[in-house]
Amino acid sequence: MTSKARVATVWLGGCSGCHMSFLDIDEKLFDLADRIELVYSPLADVKEFPEDVDVVLVEGALCNTENLELLLKARERSRVLVSFGDCAVTGNTSQLRNRLKIDDVLTQVYQAGPGSIPKGPEALEVLPVLLPKVYPLHAAVPVDFYLPGCPPDPDRILRTVTALLAGEKPELPAESITFG
Ligand code: SF4
Repeated sequence: MTSKARVATVWLGGCSGCHMSFLDIDEKLFDLADRIELVYSPLADVKEFPEDVDVVLVEGALCNTENLELLLKARERSRVLVSFGDCAVTGNTSQLRNRLKIDDVLTQVYQAGPGSIPKGPEALEVLPVLLPKVYPLHAAVPVDFYLPGCPPDPDRILRTVTALLAGEKPELPAESITFG
């Protein structure tokens, strides 16, 4: 890539620890910033996922319909999509709620504890609709590369992004990865 690569990062159902690990490459971020244009990210105030993205790193699992809509858009508009961290790769901690019914989750989180919100239909209006279960990204879209770890090691993140910017295949498990 001769001009600056258009790079995006997306935060779905995760704790943001994968993004924090990305920031842990510290001063190397300056080198990276010279080579990329960060066109969408929780680190940047951009409201709409843009067209024509070279590489997108997607953190977190699919937990609700907003997650799904954003992932579908990111897939459609990006040449390379990386499943970024264990929640994206396997569901990981986000998938722990799959043992519960959705009503149990909503009641426990929003109505049984501190900071509860009013019961009734208006309560659901402020929440995105939960998917019946939490899914890893590849359940909904084709994934080009998997970058596992909880969170992934910062240097491994940098090596992955650097390889992708150079048009090279990163040293990661690719399509052959299997899940039990
Ligand atoms: Fe957080 Fe780990 Fe999930 Fe990353 S993989 S979003 S660090 S729980």
